[in-house]
Amino acid sequence: LAFCRRLPKVELSAHLNGCVRDSTLKELASGVLLDGKPVCLDGLVQLAEETSPSFGECFQMFDLLHTITTKHDAITRITREALADFAEDGAVYVELRTTPKCRPDLGVSRESYMAAVLEGVRQYYENSYRPREADLDCRLLLSIDREKDVDDAMATMELAAQLKDKGVVGVALTGNPTVGEWSELRPAMDAARERGLKVSLEAEGFNPGELAEMLAWRPDRLGHCCCLTPELRQQLLQSRIPVEICLTSNVVTRVVTSYADHPFGDLFRQGHPVAICTDDSGILNTSLTQELAIVAQTFGVSHRELRAMTVAAADYTFLPDKEKRALRKRLQASLGVVV
Ligand code: IMP
Repeated sequence: LAFCRRLPKVELSAHLNGCVRDSTLKELASGVLLDGKPVCLDGLVQLAEETSPSFGECFQMFDLLHTITTKHDAITRITREALADFAEDGAVYVELRTTPKCRPDLGVSRESYMAAVLEGVRQYYENSYRPREADLDCRLLLSIDREKDVDDAMATMELAAQLKDKGVVGVALTGNPTVGEWSELRPAMDAARERGLKVSLEAEGFNPGELAEMLAWRPDRLGHCCCLTPELRQQLLQSRIPVEICLTSNVVTRVVTSYADHPFGDLFRQGHPVAICTDDSGILNTSLTQELAIVAQTFGVSHRELRAMTVAAADYTFLPDKEKRALRKRLQASLGVVV
């Protein structure tokens, strides 16, 4: 654990609202009434402690979470705190993803939601929230919720394209894997690509037909990829598409039965590009340090391999090539002082 704590780290799959601190969530929930009753956060707490909720239950928890956090001040605070927490954990580069919310009833539009996120990033850098010694670089991805329709996906993609000069580097297909069709949302992903945005697709549940189509489309990254048939495993290995690995998330939602059963081990030993990520560090009560320690313990990954994995992650970021090379150098320089 101590070695993993000291490693410089890269995070490529972190859902903003899933990063919320417990203490912040409790504070934001106090006084909020739902159907006339105080909000009960027990389900969210259990999510981190139990390993039994179905996808449906998990995503219902997110609906509850959003009723508390979909306010401009709250989003700004969660963004600022998420960056501070990643920096505290030794991350040097983070791609935060979030679904721009369109909730006229709450006075929130996609644009105002993203303005609140950008304000959180600004506050992290310009005020004293930044931990001393921290050297964190951050970019944003806009999440396209697969539960929504193609018009919603297009609106999110359009906003991502407009915010390219504000640190938005791509879009990600996220949300409940048992709902919605990739093929229906694909026009938004085609458009994202045409607009120069990078694309990550979360392939989380067991849906071989969909994953085959996703592989054929060749996204810049894939998420999860835990449910592979032998043919898909072969196709994935041949594709060399980097995979965002979220071990604790997959165990909690029972996509895999245990850490040891996670296909990470196979992908890693086959030399496939992988990046260790947290997914929802606040809700799952985890960190990059913890996920790397699980990798080391469960799969016997050595310190040398962990270092190599960290540096390689620079290549899987959605940064332009020149910035990737600069990040690689920064990681190598920091690794030089990790004993
Ligand atoms: P937000 O986009 O900042 O609101 O972060 C929470 C949202 O991210 C959830 O409502 C889901 O749509 C998405 N999300 C969080 N964790 C996962 C996951 O493991 N798989 C797919 N989507 C997820």
